[in-house]
Amino acid sequence: MASNNKTPHCSFCGESNSKVRMLLAGQGAYICDRCIENANLILADNGIFVDPPRRPAAPQGALKKQLLVPDSGSGAIPSPAKIKAYLDQYVIGQDEAKRVLSVAVYNHYKRLRYSDEHPSGKTDDVEIEKSNIIVVGETGTGKTLLAKTIARLLDVPFCIADATVITEAGYVGEDVETILTRLLQAANYDVKAAERGIVFIDEIDKIARKSDNPSITRDVSGEGVQQALLKLIEGAVINVPPEGGRKHPEQKLIPVDTRNILFISGGAFSGIDRTIGSRLKMGAIGYNATSSRQSLDRENLMQYILPMDLKKFGLIPELVGRFPILTHLNPLDRSALLRILTEPKNALVKQYKALFKMDNVELVIEPQALELIVDKAIEYKLGARGLRSIMESVMTDMMFTLPEHKQDTITVTREYAATQIDKSKINNSLQ
Ligand code: ADP
Repeated sequence: MASNNKTPHCSFCGESNSKVRMLLAGQGAYICDRCIENANLILADNGIFVDPPRRPAAPQGALKKQLLVPDSGSGAIPSPAKIKAYLDQYVIGQDEAKRVLSVAVYNHYKRLRYSDEHPSGKTDDVEIEKSNIIVVGETGTGKTLLAKTIARLLDVPFCIADATVITEAGYVGEDVETILTRLLQAANYDVKAAERGIVFIDEIDKIARKSDNPSITRDVSGEGVQQALLKLIEGAVINVPPEGGRKHPEQKLIPVDTRNILFISGGAFSGIDRTIGSRLKMGAIGYNATSSRQSLDRENLMQYILPMDLKKFGLIPELVGRFPILTHLNPLDRSALLRILTEPKNALVKQYKALFKMDNVELVIEPQALELIVDKAIEYKLGARGLRSIMESVMTDMMFTLPEHKQDTITVTREYAATQIDKSKINNSLQ
C-alpha cells in the first residue's frame, strides 16, 4: 500500500497504520495498540486499575469500523499461512499447533461463508462439519496466548471460558450456558454474530472424571459437567442467561444456536505422559517394535497423544469425539524462553524499553542478565509464566528512581540482576 499524507498515524508514537497491529480512531486523533498497552502498564503500575480493562460497550460493528485492522475489510479470508505468520509474531515455537490452529480458523471462516451461501447447511449432499480442537500442553507453554492472539486477528466474536467454574446444574457454581453469555457479551449481544464465534475453553482437563470407569457417586466436577458441555458443543439451540450466573425463572433467556460456533479447548492434562508412555510400550511389543521404539522422543511424549489417551484420562468418549482435532504444545526449553523475552512483538524486554523511553532513558539489558533470568525461571520451575515476575523483581528498584535519573542510558548487568533477584520476594517465597 502506497503511503501518503492521509495514511493514519498513531498520535502518540507517530507509527503509521501499516506498521501497527491496530489503530483506534478518536476525535481527530489515533492511538495504536502498543501505546494502549503501554498506557495500561503505566495505569497498572500506578494502581489505577489492576484488572484488564473491560471491552468498550460500543456495538461490535461500530467498533470494528473504527479499528483499522491490517488485512481485513476486503472480505478475503486470511490464508492459513497468513494466520500462522501472524501467530509467529507473538508466539515462539509451537509450530505444529500453530499450523493446526491456522487451518482450523481458516476452515471456520470457509464454513461460515458456505453456510451463508447454503442456509440449509447442505448442498450436493455435502455438509461441512466443524472441527473443534483440543490443545494439550504443560501450563505456561502458550495455550492461552495462542487463543488470545487468534482473537486479536479475528473478526468474529471470541471469548475465553474456564471449565473449572462450571458445575453440573444444581450445584454451586456457574451453569454451562454462561460460556455462551461471555460470547454474547463479546458480540455485544448481537446473537447472529455470536453464533459465528469462537470459544476457547481453558482447563478442560480439570473436568475429567477421576477414573476411567464411570463413577457411581455423582461428581461435581466430572461427568455431569462434561455431559452439559457436550450439549453445547454438539450444536443445539441453547437458552442463555444474558447476565450469566445461575438461571432464574423470571430471567428472559436468549436462544443461541451453537451449530456454527467453533470450540477450542486447552488443558495441561498433567500426568497424561505416563498413559501415553505405557500405551507406546504396549504398542511396541511385537510387529514393528524396534523401529517405533528407536524413533521415540522420550523427553516429550505429549507429541504422541491420541484421543484414546484423553479417554483414559477421564474425558467421556462422546466429548472426545466432538473434538476431532488434537494437537500439542511442546515444553519450552532454555532457548525458547530466551526468545520469548526478546522476540515477540510485545516481548517483555520491548515493554520495559518502551517504559524507560517514556522517561527519555535508553534501557540496555545485557544478554548474560537475560540468561540469568531464564535460568531462574527454569530453576523455580515457573517456565514462561515466571519470566514476568522475575523481570519485575530485577527492574522495580530502577523504575522507582527512573523519573529522577540523570543519565541517558541504564544498563542491567548479570551482577545487578542477580543481586535484585536474591533480595526479592520471589526468591524468598521459593526457598
Ligand atoms: P498456558 O499454556 O498455561 O495457557 P499462557 O499462554 O497463559 O500459558 O502463557 C503464560 C505466559 O507465558 C504468558 O505471559 C505468555 O506471554 C508467555 N508464553 C508462554 N508460552 C509462550 C510462547 N510459546 N511464546 C511467547 N510467550 C509465551
